[in-house]
Amino acid sequence: MKNIRNFCIISHIDHGKSTLADRFLEITKTVPESKMREQFLDMMDLERERGITIKMQPVRMEYTLNNEIYTLNLIDTPGHIDFSYEVSRSLTAVEGAILLVDATKGIQAQTIGNLELAKEQKLVILPVINKIDLIQAKIRETEKEISDLLKVNPEEILKISAKKGTNVEKVLEAVIKKIPPPKGEESNPLRALIFDSKYDPYKGVIAFSRIFDGRVNKGIKIYLIQSKTQGEVKEVGIFKPELSSIPELKAGEIGYLATGIKDPQRVRIGDTLTIVGSKVKPLPGYREPAPKVFLSIFPENANDFELLKEALEKLRLNDTALTFKPELKKGLGRGFQAGFLGLLHAEIITERLKREFGLDLILSTPSVVYKVLTTDNKELLVYTASDWPDPERIKRIKELWVRLDILTPLYYLGPISDLFENIESHYLKTDYLGQNKLELIYEVPFREIITKNFYDRLKSISQGFASMDYQILDWRDANLVKLDILILGKKEESLSQIIPEREAFKKGKKMVEKLKEILPPQLFSVPLQAAVSGKIIARETLSAKRKDVTAPLYGGDYTRKRKLLEKQKRGKKKLKVRGQIKIPPRLYLEIFKIK
Ligand code: GDP
Ligand code: MG
Repeated sequence: MKNIRNFCIISHIDHGKSTLADRFLEITKTVPESKMREQFLDMMDLERERGITIKMQPVRMEYTLNNEIYTLNLIDTPGHIDFSYEVSRSLTAVEGAILLVDATKGIQAQTIGNLELAKEQKLVILPVINKIDLIQAKIRETEKEISDLLKVNPEEILKISAKKGTNVEKVLEAVIKKIPPPKGEESNPLRALIFDSKYDPYKGVIAFSRIFDGRVNKGIKIYLIQSKTQGEVKEVGIFKPELSSIPELKAGEIGYLATGIKDPQRVRIGDTLTIVGSKVKPLPGYREPAPKVFLSIFPENANDFELLKEALEKLRLNDTALTFKPELKKGLGRGFQAGFLGLLHAEIITERLKREFGLDLILSTPSVVYKVLTTDNKELLVYTASDWPDPERIKRIKELWVRLDILTPLYYLGPISDLFENIESHYLKTDYLGQNKLELIYEVPFREIITKNFYDRLKSISQGFASMDYQILDWRDANLVKLDILILGKKEESLSQIIPEREAFKKGKKMVEKLKEILPPQLFSVPLQAAVSGKIIARETLSAKRKDVTAPLYGGDYTRKRKLLEKQKRGKKKLKVRGQIKIPPRLYLEIFKIK
């Protein structure tokens, strides 16, 4: 065990984790040269295309230093805030973390966010500055920021180019010298922490595990302490990075166990795995992340509902953070209300539904969850506008607030302050980091971040240099209303939304204006109205397109012409009485885009 090192690479997104992992794979000859490709550990198609890591990826490498062979277990992690759950799980499986900082960007919000997570696990932190090959690299400035943050000497910070390979071997040496080997007892009963899992139809759920005590091999009867479930090990192995079976896993190692358990719900991430009959103490698990962002998903073609259901079920097998339940909406039919960790998570899942399952989808605007206290003292969690109670039943409304941490070069302070003009917030404080960087802390309703796409706006006004991180704080009182849209006097439930009362007028006006623009013309004029609590607050009229019913008639047969016109009039009346404008499903896509 003294020659094992378990570690991960953490950083802000794009600072070069996966690229550094590539160099490690090459130096240790874990992946043959002929198979090597950039960001090798980003295995999903979508990860490769977007250039981002979504799933953590463990890999085992061998490295010789001073004639000693070391086993290095590396876990590459995602850097985006939506996936910090992946990071926190990786961190519990290791003893140390490389904190990688891009020299052109310096410390960014998730550098700090992920560092906090690593400190909670009491990991050894190895600070490394990356991208020193670039002319824009601000090595001294970054050095100063890191030494301020970690209270280390600038000389202790390694400076590398993950792309060119400069000084990368020094990082491996530091991993061996500074990160302690794992502790644990091979002779004790098995205790393994499940930090990730993957569904396999043949071998059952595959539990990615860190073995803390004992040993495990094929055929052993195992027991999951939390879910009280038994299984029989079908195979054990390591990550190369593809699954590769070995005869046995021992204390201190990271690997996988095929559990033989077919029900994914029974193999919980964070559970402790032991052998049947042993009475070991469970390892501290994880707090499962609650979904934070909600979307209604409808198939464009109503016949695809079953297909959508199966697709969601399949994706959930390997993504426990995804939740969904059926939802029925007038005009849109049957669909699902799905919960995600954040906007990027939602985007990725819906993209996969479209791509991997060939589904055409209609997605509602993303929303957050609200708490409504009713007059009869019930507390409701409301995820979509259609579940919003009648105004007279509402006593109080609460919404989640977050602590928003923005890191920015001084230069962008102006545009960032402007951004906050339209965002409800409480400013808390500003700190300096190094010479040129500011940390701005605010409290903000989570709704503002999600429904106003705050992250993208922050990125675009700062050319990508400002970054943000947030933590959920608590529920606070909110003044929200349900904005309804009426077409031809009828409420179009799918277009209702929950918004702050003070934005209702503006938003209502925008909605009806947009509807007027995009709805196909009808044979009669159609009132488009926005209403709050039954009171009309904005109105437009979709004017009638007069179909020239007399066009086929030539010459002057006036009587026939009049007859036809009267028939048309009657027809219009009839249509109006039955009064239903069917919005073509495609149009919802445009309507939901209205900001
Ligand atoms: P991750 O999000 O932290 O995994 O970052 P990636 O490894 O995907 O890298 C993000 C981008 O930075 C990619 O375009 C890499 O090619 C680039 N990159 C990573 N390391 C270096 C480096 O040392 N020098 C330069 N010039 N580019 C790098
Ligand atoms: Mg990556």
